[in-house]
Parts: sequence; C-alpha cells; structure tokens
Amino acid sequence: MSQDWEIAIQRTINNNVPRVHRILENHKYVLDLAKKLREAKMRVLSDLETYVEQTLESVKRTGGNAYFVNDDEEAKEIVGKIVGKGKIVVFGKSMVAYELGIRKYLQQLGNEVWETDLGEFLIQLADEPPSHIIAPAVHMTKERVAKLLKEKLGFDVSESSSHEELVQKVREFLRNKFLSANVGITGANAVAADVGSIVLVENEGNIRMSTVVPPVHIAIVGVEKIVPTLEDALIEALVQAAYAGLYPPTYINVTSGPSSTGDIEMRRVSPAHGPKEFHLILVDNGRLKASKDPILREALLCIRCGRCHLHCPIYRVLDGSWGDAPYSGPMGAMWSYIIYNDYKPALYCTHSGNCKEVCPMKINIPRVLEYIKYMGNKQRRDK
Ligand code: SF4
Repeated sequence: MSQDWEIAIQRTINNNVPRVHRILENHKYVLDLAKKLREAKMRVLSDLETYVEQTLESVKRTGGNAYFVNDDEEAKEIVGKIVGKGKIVVFGKSMVAYELGIRKYLQQLGNEVWETDLGEFLIQLADEPPSHIIAPAVHMTKERVAKLLKEKLGFDVSESSSHEELVQKVREFLRNKFLSANVGITGANAVAADVGSIVLVENEGNIRMSTVVPPVHIAIVGVEKIVPTLEDALIEALVQAAYAGLYPPTYINVTSGPSSTGDIEMRRVSPAHGPKEFHLILVDNGRLKASKDPILREALLCIRCGRCHLHCPIYRVLDGSWGDAPYSGPMGAMWSYIIYNDYKPALYCTHSGNCKEVCPMKINIPRVLEYIKYMGNKQRRDK
C-alpha cells in the first residue's frame, strides 16, 4: 500500500462514511425509495430488449436521435460521425464512454477533448485510470493535485494551496472550454423508457454545462440504466445522491430531446437556447447477456453510489487498483467480468459481506463474486 493512498483513502472514509449515515438517518424515506427502485429496475432487467425498444421510440418522439450499439466499435463509429474532427468536446463524466474508449478515440480523430468532472479532469491530466467510481481521483492527496496542476497546466499553486484555491483554478480553466465547446458528451444515471428522458445527478455543475451549452449533446448510456418511468428515473437520482453522501444533490438534470420553445403561439419550435441536437446511444457490451443470467443480473442493479468500496477491506489494501477501469472495488469485480469477461478481480474477494450490507440495491455482491469465481475456474478447466 503506498503512503499517498493510505492518507487519501483515510481522509475520504472520514469525510464520507459518517455523512452517509447522517443522511440516511435524517431522511428515512430514502430507504423506501431504494426499495421501490430495486423493484422497478428488476422489472426492466427481466425484459430488457422490450424496454430498449420502448426507450428508442420515446427518444425519437421528443425530437432526439436514438441508437442501440452492441460494442465499442459500433459506438465509436456513431460518435465519430456526429463529432467529426477539429472540434472541442467536453465530457461530463460518462463511465460507459471510458469503458468504450471514446475520449481517446476522439483525440485520435484530431479533436480537443476535456473531462470536466474535477476527478476525471485530474486523472486525464495524470493519464491514470480512475480509482473509485464517483471520486475517480480518490487516490490523489491534495498535495499531489497541486503538483499535478502546476506541472501540467502551469497553474500558480503549491502544496500548501487550499482545496478551495485548487478548485477555483480548475473552474477558471474549464469555464472557457465549456463556452467554446462544439459537443458535450455525458452518461446518465437513469433513462426513462416511457418518455425518453435522461436524468443526471451532480454537484459540480459541469454536467449541466455539458448538456446545455454546446450545440450538440450526446449521452452514452448502458442499457441497464433504463427504468420504466420518469418517476423511477428521478427516484434513482435521489437514491444515488443519498448513498453517495451528497444529499441533497446540488443539481438534478432532466434532458428530453433538443432544446425547444413554445413561446410564439404555443407552437413548439426547436432548437431554442440549448443544444439543437440530442443523441442517445444505448450500449449493450455484455449487459444483455448478463441480464439473462439470474445471478449476474443482480450486478446490473448497481446505481454507482460507490458505497461498497469504502466498506470493503480488500479495496482498501489494493490501492484503488482492484478491477478493470473504470470499474473498481466490489462492484468493479462484478463488472470486470460482465464487460471484459475478466474473472480475476473476483478472486480477490474474501467475502467479508460488508458490501452487501451497505448496498442500496441490496445486491448480494459476495454471492455474485462467488459465482464469477466458479465461472472463471470453469473457463480455465475448459481451455
Ligand atoms: S454495488 Fe451497490 S453499493 Fe456498490 S456501487 Fe453499486 S449500488 Fe453502490
């Protein structure tokens, strides 16, 4: 274990764990919402293809473009055609885009690409994989962040700079990128099948900027993020924020197609001030197959709150490098198998069971990992 990691993860646990306890104690209705959300997501997972079709139709009804892709190659082809080359692209945090290698692909095409979530921005500068799903730079101490900003961008900061000073410098730098961006790319916390809206929850404001300021918005989202209704999608945003320890969330963004106005004779005209194009790319990449397996299906319920990480003894000793990026920790051990057919991260699990206790979706993570271990051994034997 590196000394930097030990310091950074201890500070994170001290800041986050008591906060989540307080939130759940003070807002008990979140527990009921989580239960309701699990039921809604289970309904979708038992008939995922039908919900994919319904979602694609709903997005088109709102004036958006909707696509279903099987893998990274298909996703890159569509994104490449929409973006082209020589553009400025801002990313508003999309784990699926990372999974598919979209940022690097767009850079190869000759675009200037910026991650705008602060954690993602830092790991982009450091050219390192994320170490946590909601705090990708959790392995960096404040002192390391200052050094990185000074070295890579020449910011006037030092190891004694405060958290506030560091954030202010990045804010100034990225503000210009938002205002000159041609395309904004985001993920989604949830997609409502009934109306085709995507819902994104955040605190920084970078997602709101990425979805509204550039003339084109692309959302790249795994099919497991589909929920039956907009009500369920908003519930997912609240539950995710509470279990992530960021409650109430500063922003919940709902996007339903390109911008529009009905202010002249109530005739709906698009675009108005926001994007003139909205594209939703729904990604399979192993998810549909997992949805057919009664044990692996559980993993698809994950709402990316990151809670299991901070309660897991193994995540803590593995320096945040457990799992295939961008998936880390106990959830990452499940998702490494689903997406990359890599069973090895599951082998590290010692089945302490803490993850299952704290998971808002009540995913039986140890059971899923035990199953992946079994499947991995079978794969090895059959070779
Ligand atoms: S597996 Fe559960 S606790 Fe872990 S990130 Fe997903 S929803 Fe959160």
